[in-house]
Amino acid sequence: MPVRNFPRIIHMFIEILKVKSVILINYLKKVGFCMKRGPNESIGCTVTECKYHAHDEAYCTLDKIQVAKHVPEATNIESTDCASFQNQAR
Ligand code: SF4
Repeated sequence: MPVRNFPRIIHMFIEILKVKSVILINYLKKVGFCMKRGPNESIGCTVTECKYHAHDEAYCTLDKIQVAKHVPEATNIESTDCASFQNQAR
């Protein structure tokens, strides 16, 4: 292997590592390994039993949540829930 190709090989190696890192980070986010983020001040929440709760502050740590109704027609606050909730004990 000629020495003059060495910088090019190093550059290719670094580019491969970058791509692999992005794939790994996306996978870890998907499986919930990297989910601990700071509080999202756009999503206030007092459900401290949820694994996405900020705990020190009354906020969710997710970028977005899904709000769902659990009756055919929502008519009051009890008809809706956070569908992104996950029990922190799991
Ligand atoms: S996912 Fe829902 S219940 Fe859990 S902390 Fe966020 S807003 Fe609260």
